[in-house]
Amino acid sequence: MLAWILRAVRLQSFSINTTHADEGQLRDVFWCSVIAIVASCQAVALPVGAAESQYQVGSARVDITPDYPVRMNGFLVRKEESRGVRQRIWAKALAIGDDTEGPLVLITVDNLGVPDEITHEVARRIGQSSKLRQERLAIAASHTHTAPMINGCAPNIFGAQIPPADQAHIDRYTQFFTDKLVEVGLAALDDRKPATMMFGVGKVTFAKNRRSATGPIDHELPMLVVRDLNGQPRSILVNYACHCVTLSESLIGGDWAGYAQEHIERIFPGSLAMVSIGCGADQNPLLGVQGDRFDIASQQGLEIACEVKRLADGPLQTVSGKINVQYSRIDLDLAELPSRQELEQKSKLDSAIGYHARVQLSKLDRGEKLRTKIDYPIQTWQFGDSLCMVFLAGEVVVDYAKRLKSEIPRASIWVNAYSNAAPCYIPSERVLSEGGYEGGSAMIYYDQPTRFAPGLEEKILGAVKQQLAR
Ligand SMILES: [Zn+2]
Repeated sequence: MLAWILRAVRLQSFSINTTHADEGQLRDVFWCSVIAIVASCQAVALPVGAAESQYQVGSARVDITPDYPVRMNGFLVRKEESRGVRQRIWAKALAIGDDTEGPLVLITVDNLGVPDEITHEVARRIGQSSKLRQERLAIAASHTHTAPMINGCAPNIFGAQIPPADQAHIDRYTQFFTDKLVEVGLAALDDRKPATMMFGVGKVTFAKNRRSATGPIDHELPMLVVRDLNGQPRSILVNYACHCVTLSESLIGGDWAGYAQEHIERIFPGSLAMVSIGCGADQNPLLGVQGDRFDIASQQGLEIACEVKRLADGPLQTVSGKINVQYSRIDLDLAELPSRQELEQKSKLDSAIGYHARVQLSKLDRGEKLRTKIDYPIQTWQFGDSLCMVFLAGEVVVDYAKRLKSEIPRASIWVNAYSNAAPCYIPSERVLSEGGYEGGSAMIYYDQPTRFAPGLEEKILGAVKQQLAR
């Protein structure tokens, strides 16, 4: 049934696209499709969890769509400011727990990534007027490539100096973005009321390994649904390991993760939908980058929403138990730094490599040292033995999730990448030794002086396992 509906949606959207229908018509097609799905599914009331599995949970959303042109992050070739808005973008937050132990706050946000400095600033400011502590805040970015650039996240992405007028807009948006993350976190804390949380894992198949047709993939779709004490869904969080790059146009939007949120919220009226990204650094949508084909991004979002609906109607595991939060930082060594002579050689190139070399040389000229290590945050939230959320920073390749899921002998492991900091790609030893974009050449866009030295995979996984043993 679901497959038939999806096929029908696909056919409708492609036929409309070929006749150049406007956005409104296309949106109607999806509305109708979603309504059809809702009508075709029978709501199944789930039993409310026992008192010991109740938590105080709040949620909130804040619109973070800019109303002025701003550079968009993620593509080297797109060097212009945004020309409008395709879709509103959001920061959304879930606050879990009461003030006796201190609550947790998870913020998901439509952006390429969130720099360490912003996470610290948001934690500090939320902590000033609440009981929130740094290790109890997690910020997970959707990695949409159609959201504004913020300072500190892939600063060399354009392979050229950003003109002052464009930089002024980036500065303005960075401040606004930080303020809005604080606002949404505080609003979720204020919204807390008794709730139950249920967890399940589905499957969505639109991601592929972008390095190799036979490379590893992770099609799991973990879902957390927060219900009020009448069993009504209030918030739904899903996680999928795939780059958010179907759209590469110059209109602001959330890409497939934004459409997934919209479709879920239509299927579950009154709910708030959040999307975090798994270890999808080497995973792309099957159809790849599709320019302005928002119908494709919408369809991918709909696939996620339909799977959420199927999961929510079936048996789910109850999240229960005491919350155990761990946070640590480890140093990840970089490989040997390039010599000044090597940088001078590269600096002559009229390319992103040349620009990166010039940026490194200007640091040396100012008397600064090039970085030799990356200070990497690792965070875990365990809910008794029922669910364990891991937050890894940066663009983490799929091998990490595969290993964690197979090597942690208990509880359901849920891995959020693109969380809390945006240092660079995080290759596994395999990807590092293979090289290529995720293995090293993408480091220049993140303003890292060189690639990683071997040994990071065991360090990261060792730190996660150490946290989970506490
Ligand atoms: Zn990426």
